[in-house]
Amino acid sequence: MKLATRVGKVTPSLTLTISAKAKAMKGQGIDVCSFSAGEPDFDTPTHIKEAAKQALDQGKTKYGPAAGEPKLREAIAKKLYQDNHLNYAPENVMVTNGGKHSLFNLMLALIEPGDEVIIPAPYWLSYPEMVTLAGGTSVIVPTTPESDYKITPEQLEEAITPQTKLFVLNSPSNPTGTVYTPQEIAELAQVIVEHDLLVVSDEIYEKILYDGAEHKSIASFGDDIFQRSIISNGFAKSYSMTGWRIGYMAGPKELIKAMTTIQSHSTSNVCTFAQYGAIAALESSQECVEQMCRAFAERRQVMLERVNQINKLSCPVPNGAFYVYVDISQTGMTSLDFSDKLLESHQVALIPGIAFGNDTTVRLSYATDMATIEKGMDRIAEFMSSL
Ligand code: GLU
Repeated sequence: MKLATRVGKVTPSLTLTISAKAKAMKGQGIDVCSFSAGEPDFDTPTHIKEAAKQALDQGKTKYGPAAGEPKLREAIAKKLYQDNHLNYAPENVMVTNGGKHSLFNLMLALIEPGDEVIIPAPYWLSYPEMVTLAGGTSVIVPTTPESDYKITPEQLEEAITPQTKLFVLNSPSNPTGTVYTPQEIAELAQVIVEHDLLVVSDEIYEKILYDGAEHKSIASFGDDIFQRSIISNGFAKSYSMTGWRIGYMAGPKELIKAMTTIQSHSTSNVCTFAQYGAIAALESSQECVEQMCRAFAERRQVMLERVNQINKLSCPVPNGAFYVYVDISQTGMTSLDFSDKLLESHQVALIPGIAFGNDTTVRLSYATDMATIEKGMDRIAEFMSSL
């Protein structure tokens, strides 16, 4: 069979592949400690599940508008105003099948051959692949642990060419957990406005912050940047709703309309009764989010301490998300070799940094229980001393 050329230009998602492998090994009775997927181990809060069950019972089982249930679009617009000081009407908002789908819709609606998209590395692995699938070109800008894995305004400016269309910002970041300060965001916004670019701000980890770190949406730094911003967010990480597949996007009406057209020919609406769960998530108490964040904070502390006790491993202190991004360069191994050997010999799953554009690092997710963290870190320590 001759497949379309575009398929040969991308590779399967390593985060999904490795997480699935770890789950399959567990299914076979193998005692695996998985630090692979960025998937909270908590169940979805009961009131959210109840709202979806109620919607099912009320017959919310039919097709709905492609852009989402009007009530959910309204609730999202309200959330963006209250939490992020962004003044969007419901027409500026669309509901998607998860944050990944939001970004995919965006790339299809915006990017075509000849267009360049600037992506700081380490990056979440699907960004460049989506650009490729849309026919565009990713311009990867490497960052270092010395700058806390943040792109500087100078680096951004240097990467801009007449073909640049879009800049991808992700703070708090997957995979590094780094959080840009409001001042740093303001400086990036200035470059974007000066060069009349667009920015997509992936804010999926906005609620998961530590040590007083602050999340400020780039779109909130004045009207010029607001007009050039697209916000991507979703329910998976904050409300432990990964399998529900509900994300959203907010931005200029023209763009939301274009993405809705694409969605109307691809997936249609997001599962109708699931959207009622999302409404409950936004409209009820946020105590469940705070509770999960408190647990992540404790786990982060333990994982950081344990990583830093191990000879030849180091990592910067992440201020957000639920990942530690560990430098393995002193082992002399490639990240794939490191992660393969660790899984094989000590049954610990993690994601090799090569997936995120950096081969001397690995990503560990601590969105898992404390016992697994303790046991997995013991095993990593043993693995390291066996090298
Ligand atoms: N975003 C999560 C991660 O990075 C889930 C897997 C994926 O979609 O990449 O682990």
